[in-house]
Amino acid sequence: MLEIANLSHVYGGGTPNAHHAIEGLNLSVAAGELLCIVGPSGCGKSTLLRSIAGLIRPTGGQVRIEGQVVRQTPDNLAVVFQDYSRSLFPWMSVEDNVALPLRRRNMDKRRRQEAAKEALESVGLAGAGRKYPFQLSGGMQQRVAIARALAYRPTLMLMDEPFGSVDAQTREDLEDLVLKVRGHHRMTIVLITHDIDESVYVGDRVVVLSKAPAHVVGDLKVHLPGPRDQISTREHPDFVHLRAEVGRLVRGHATV
Ligand code: ADP
Repeated sequence: MLEIANLSHVYGGGTPNAHHAIEGLNLSVAAGELLCIVGPSGCGKSTLLRSIAGLIRPTGGQVRIEGQVVRQTPDNLAVVFQDYSRSLFPWMSVEDNVALPLRRRNMDKRRRQEAAKEALESVGLAGAGRKYPFQLSGGMQQRVAIARALAYRPTLMLMDEPFGSVDAQTREDLEDLVLKVRGHHRMTIVLITHDIDESVYVGDRVVVLSKAPAHVVGDLKVHLPGPRDQISTREHPDFVHLRAEVGRLVRGHATV
């Protein structure tokens, strides 16, 4: 469903400050897969995500979604960013925030509101629709951002460090929420994180990027007994083995 071929991106090309963020990156993602991309801070993860989302035009190579070359933001795509406080409109109620992108869908107001209510329910915020973002905790605001993406019914959901700005307990709750909603909504998810444990806990597959310029240095299938659980999954020997393997790759060491 997603094909990235020989992708490169240079910021400030042709200037003395040129920065090669991505070079020769190849990656395919199958429909329905939950792929985690992990790599050292500043390696080019967000640049990759912005290239997939059509938010920047890469200086080399190609991104294809369902066979179509990405030249602008595709219609079947939703993005959840790390910074929920900047991604929700503070002057709109929670429900209106969730319903807003549905204006791009051919839906009347009543159906947009119904879809927003349903999405809020699926993230555990059934009663919060009439509230405003500032009346919610950080974790709840990020749930609203996830509900907004779900209501849109994308075939591809991109998540850029979606749990990077919440406390550890909320982070675990949101990881489990993503696992739950991907079971209900048939979609492909690409989740970017710098957290090695999170990538193994959430992913069907973990792709490891090198230091800048980013390219793929590891691609591991995650086979863990399901359903995943914050306590028993994290102490499972396969989890412990995989996180060590991903850790070695992130730090630039060959795997055993
Ligand atoms: P990550 O998400 O892995 O932390 P980014 O993709 O945000 O990394 O950034 C990769 C590199 O590209 C960093 O060194 C960053 O400073 C640089 N970079 C990101 N955006 C820009 C930009 N708009 N202009 C110039 N350099 C940028």
